[in-house]
Amino acid sequence: MEPKHRSPHKTKEKRGIRGFFQDMIFGFCSRLFYIISLVWEAKKSILFVLALLCLLDGVLPVVGAYIGAELLNRLALAITGQLTDFTLILYPLIALFVQQFLNRITGRISTMTTRIAGELVSNHIRLKIICKARSVDLGSFDRPEFYEKLENANREAGHRPIQILSATFNVISAAISAVSFVVILAGLHPAAPLLILLMALPGAVINYIYRRKTFLYMRHRSKDRRQMNYYASVMTNKDMVKEIRLLGLSDTFIGKFRAVFARYYAGIKRLILHEGFWHIAISLATVLANAVLFVYVAHEVAYGPLQLGDYSLYTGALNSIVSYVNTLVTMTATIYEGTLFIDNMMTFMREEETIVPTLAEPVLPARGRHVVEFRDVCFAYPGTENNVLDHINLRLESGQITVLVGLNGAGKTTLIKLLTRLYDPTEGVILLDGRDIREYDVRELYKIFGIVFQDFGKYAVSVRENISFGDVDLPIHEDRVRAAARESAAAEFIEGLPDGYDTPLMRYFEENGTELSIGQWQKLSVARAFYKQSDILILDEPTASLDPLAEQEVFNQFGRLGDDKITIFVSHRLSSATVADQVVVLEYGKIIECGNHRELMKQKGKYHRLFTTQASRYLDEEDDPVTE
Ligand code: ADP
Repeated sequence: MEPKHRSPHKTKEKRGIRGFFQDMIFGFCSRLFYIISLVWEAKKSILFVLALLCLLDGVLPVVGAYIGAELLNRLALAITGQLTDFTLILYPLIALFVQQFLNRITGRISTMTTRIAGELVSNHIRLKIICKARSVDLGSFDRPEFYEKLENANREAGHRPIQILSATFNVISAAISAVSFVVILAGLHPAAPLLILLMALPGAVINYIYRRKTFLYMRHRSKDRRQMNYYASVMTNKDMVKEIRLLGLSDTFIGKFRAVFARYYAGIKRLILHEGFWHIAISLATVLANAVLFVYVAHEVAYGPLQLGDYSLYTGALNSIVSYVNTLVTMTATIYEGTLFIDNMMTFMREEETIVPTLAEPVLPARGRHVVEFRDVCFAYPGTENNVLDHINLRLESGQITVLVGLNGAGKTTLIKLLTRLYDPTEGVILLDGRDIREYDVRELYKIFGIVFQDFGKYAVSVRENISFGDVDLPIHEDRVRAAARESAAAEFIEGLPDGYDTPLMRYFEENGTELSIGQWQKLSVARAFYKQSDILILDEPTASLDPLAEQEVFNQFGRLGDDKITIFVSHRLSSATVADQVVVLEYGKIIECGNHRELMKQKGKYHRLFTTQASRYLDEEDDPVTE
């Protein structure tokens, strides 16, 4: 059931240079359009302001060049005594100052707008990613390349789009100026602009070639970068730091980090140096061509028809064209490179949900009592071949307690993930009240489950919110919060906290935030499940965090609350299985035994072996007989 997704990189690589240009033009345009639409969504007026500023930015230098030339011409006339009225010299001077003033203002406003736009756009994109993440299938997160794209999109979202947008406007204004100067230069000699543009071509080609090489190199080395990120995160991860210190692993990971960086660095340095050498060679050629044109202009002013002002106009135009073409080349390359990174975000946003209702008008699940049936259900995780669940047939009814038993990796959590429709079976069907669960409205379906996962959530909010997150559809109900805390055996420790239910948890944001033990966190997550008015209660493997007494207490509570619910308990401690209505023994994804404790003990199979081994351990260690 893996959603279809292409590997654009592989195909791109095979298409060669023609493909590269096709990709460059079409891909570039669509990515640029995407970025512009993001800015448009964030704030429309920003685009108008930036467009206006970019127009001014493009025109003002040309106006300045004309005014400067006129001023020089008038000065030359004044020197030779042909112009005596000084106000005629003052006018172009005033115009020049106005032009310079406008130039500065445009620059300032442009910087201000870009900064404001940067804040708005990056926030808009972050929100977009968060909102999209809400609906992306869990299966997508199992694909490393998808996860990498998401991480990249998240990392790049902050600055790339606005960098690209401002570079795009720079390109447009540079293009306006460059074209105007080219038109001016054509007045000198029709071949002059052609010569200058010809000289710019190799630089542009080199730029694109190396941008692409860099991008391909980065992609080729993306595993290295992920490894470096991983080593860095391991060293700075709060949960890992204890073990890393005690095992003395720091040097090992720093060594690995250094080794990977050395590999990555060698290649990128080579690319940077090669590109640099090419550019130096090309600049030499450009300077030569420029020199020829300068000499020609000087000759025409000295002995030809040109005036002194024309010298400033044409040489100014020459210098400007060179610098604008440079801007154009580097900026478009920056934009091109930037848009390649935006690809990550576009792919992420295009990710299609497969966990959606199969009916155009999805069914709303009834609330209250239910019957769930697994019919011949098989499942392999996306991108894998192995069936983690193999032809599962199982019936669950309200009022019944089911305990799932099996060694690690048997498929117990996976079965829960399918039941709660976080994944869909690869074969077979799961029925809720006689209907395929895929026919139900997914969000409404999720509401009937109260679940505590093995890796339950720990939220850096108050204790009260941590519990009330179980049901965010209604305002927080204080009595229900306290009842849930009592039922999950969490009330006792909560009342001992400095601010009781108002205590902020974790020290991410609050100086006085309280850190809980893992067992206390688990009790909170059980309280969250109890707070939710669910029809199907699931507690997945609490053994790691709950002490045996607390687990038994929670289990008893599950039993009491579960009179009219389907209650599922995944546990290693088989003592809980003794009171279950149904014990399901899983091995390698198959149900190998199913029945109540007594029946399974009589069968003398796997369950019997597991139970007697555990019971004898308890007897040895605690002298606390576990009765059959
Ligand atoms: P249990 O809960 O019984 O310990 P799980 O259902 O968590 O077992 O896992 C069953 C099998 O599925 C294991 O072999 C595990 O490696 C594999 N598995 C679990 N999660 C994933 C995943 N996201 N992608 C691929 N394989 C997975």
